[in-house]
Amino acid sequence: MKLLIKNAEIITMDYDNPIVKGDIGIVDEKIAFIGKDNNFTPDTIKDVKGNIVMPGLINAHTHTPMSLLRCYADDLDLHEWLFDRIVPVEDTFDENDIYWGSMLACLEMIESGVTAFADMYFLNTATARAVQQNGMRANISRALQCFDDRTSFENDKLIRQALELYNQFHNTAQGRIMVDISAHAVYTNTKPYLKYIATIIDELNVGVHLHISETERENIECLEKYKMTPTQLFLSCGFFNTRTIAAHSVYLTQDDIDIYKDKNINIVTNPTSNLKLASGIAPIGKYLRNGLNIALGTDSAASNNNLNLFEEMHLASLLQKGVNKDPIEISAFDALKMATVNGADALGIENCGVLKASNVADLIIINTDKPHLMPYYNPLSAVVYSAQAADVDSVMVAGKFLMENREIKSIDVEQVKYQTKKIAARIALQST
Ligand SMILES: [Zn+2]
Repeated sequence: MKLLIKNAEIITMDYDNPIVKGDIGIVDEKIAFIGKDNNFTPDTIKDVKGNIVMPGLINAHTHTPMSLLRCYADDLDLHEWLFDRIVPVEDTFDENDIYWGSMLACLEMIESGVTAFADMYFLNTATARAVQQNGMRANISRALQCFDDRTSFENDKLIRQALELYNQFHNTAQGRIMVDISAHAVYTNTKPYLKYIATIIDELNVGVHLHISETERENIECLEKYKMTPTQLFLSCGFFNTRTIAAHSVYLTQDDIDIYKDKNINIVTNPTSNLKLASGIAPIGKYLRNGLNIALGTDSAASNNNLNLFEEMHLASLLQKGVNKDPIEISAFDALKMATVNGADALGIENCGVLKASNVADLIIINTDKPHLMPYYNPLSAVVYSAQAADVDSVMVAGKFLMENREIKSIDVEQVKYQTKKIAARIALQST
């Protein structure tokens, strides 16, 4: 299949050549050229009439099935929210719930320009099946947790599930699905269990997805218990030898920052979730100055309460300007990098996040024919400071449109809505 997208204002995210006016040639799942190529003979031509085309957004930290718990428990801090309200309902979830919750989240993400995401949850062979069918890219991980004092984990049920997920789905769906290993956090695990998980990670040489230093309380309790920060504890247990996603990282010490730098740990900042759970504001300007890779996430729709990366880009930039009283602390280009190329690095997706020849054709088209995008003089500013998620007109992953002209191609939208309402009715009944 040869497709020509013509008359585009292209945000390439290529540092040397960030904006190109012209065409994009796509052959099968890859970009053939950006700009002009008179020798390209397409099967199909799509004229985007001057609209913005840019890399697909990457949601580098989320828990997709939790979309079923959107607006279920609000106005609480992390610990009360998670342990008193969320976990008791999660304990009732079955694979059917996980499948439809994942599909609901994917539908919302596709409609708002997300092409890839990193997911941490449980029973997530169902999430993998949803992603197989809906055409997105995903790094999926089974959240490992241990609250008892065992020291032997040979037959641990959760680890068995994590390995089953890995064996069944890692590097499947033409490489769209990757499976990472996840230790949920230091406050939901014991030290012997963390050490055991680290040996599995090294054996498989697999990517890792963690929550680190989300709240001040997490740091204080970890220091009291282990005389180490969460980062130091993970390191002492043998983590960080492979690609690592460290969600939140709100409260890193200088020593933690040095460890992140030394071990190439990828931070995923989740500004809305951190604000809503009153966790704080991650000093990402400082982390950037320290040379750390920072990607962007929504966290779950239960603590956000949507999966809208346009909102996260906007907030990530504005929060740092305001807190640091510095308008260039996080520029529009920095925010866009966090939502695209930095996310691709964090997830280990090769040849992704920048629109250029031979990279994967993961892109979105933004309809700029809207009053709130009129006029715009700088497309980078337009996307970060003015655009809304609903301005995304079309979404492509690996050369295939998952949404075109706002029409969803790969998901039965009415079925997702029907199943969501059915499951939500049961949850509401259980909770009364
Ligand atoms: Zn999270």
